[in-house]
Amino acid sequence: MDALHPFIFDNTPIRGNVAQLDLSFNEALQHQSMPPVLRQALGELMTACTLLISTIKMDGALVLQLQSKGILKLLVVECQSDLTIRATAKWNGSITNQRFTELIDGGQFVITLDPKQGEPYQGIVALEGDSIAEMLENYMMRSQQIDTSIWLTCNGNQAAGLLLQKLPNQTLDDTDAWNRFNQLANTVTNEELLALSPDVLLTRLFVDEDVRLFEGRSIKANCTCTRQSVTNMLLMLGEQEVQSIIEEQGSVQVNCDFCNKHYVFDEDEMRDTFEADPLQPTAYGAPN
Ligand SMILES: [Zn+2]
Repeated sequence: MDALHPFIFDNTPIRGNVAQLDLSFNEALQHQSMPPVLRQALGELMTACTLLISTIKMDGALVLQLQSKGILKLLVVECQSDLTIRATAKWNGSITNQRFTELIDGGQFVITLDPKQGEPYQGIVALEGDSIAEMLENYMMRSQQIDTSIWLTCNGNQAAGLLLQKLPNQTLDDTDAWNRFNQLANTVTNEELLALSPDVLLTRLFVDEDVRLFEGRSIKANCTCTRQSVTNMLLMLGEQEVQSIIEEQGSVQVNCDFCNKHYVFDEDEMRDTFEADPLQPTAYGAPN
């Protein structure tokens, strides 16, 4: 459990990943209480994030954000290349027994690739589809022109998923293989995704195919927040805003949405921070 296994189909440009999250899913959400429908959606999105980042040659982070004008305001999952992951949700209004798709009016997916070196890349698309898997498939097709099929599930305690991807290849006629693998993978049940070990799962789905499974990489929950990252956020908020919070509350207190870690900044520290920031010419408390 809590691992991602890549696999390939020999002599085709088709590859895949299978992922299962258990402890990492529960740890990432341990300080957050949310309605089951959102917990389930986040489980699927976390799984998708591990499946997708493993198809990208990059050292950095993949951030999947689902934003909407409906009751659900934001789902966000961030996964690093080493498969450490964090996630959170924001909503406004009452969630009782609505289906996920009823909560995401006017929604969009914001997909950010944030490499450790080089410029970040961001893609934004309207939500199209009845599930998170379908929405991401549409994004991959429209925005990246890569055939990608995704199966996701989450039972509230565990999450799992499967991805197939066809790499662009001019020399092989791979349409038949692609269609066949998709038909076979489409027979997968949520229970199989959650419970079967990857080798048993692939053997069951692709019994007559030359599929090769690689060693798993572990998936872990870990928040990347630091005192410095919170400080940067306060710098972006601006001196006036921070000053008015201090006047009102005596200090600035910030809780990380992801891990609930508590940060406190007193007046002196904030003054020094703004004074030291080259982007803040009118330093906190400086004479005119
Ligand atoms: Zn945190």
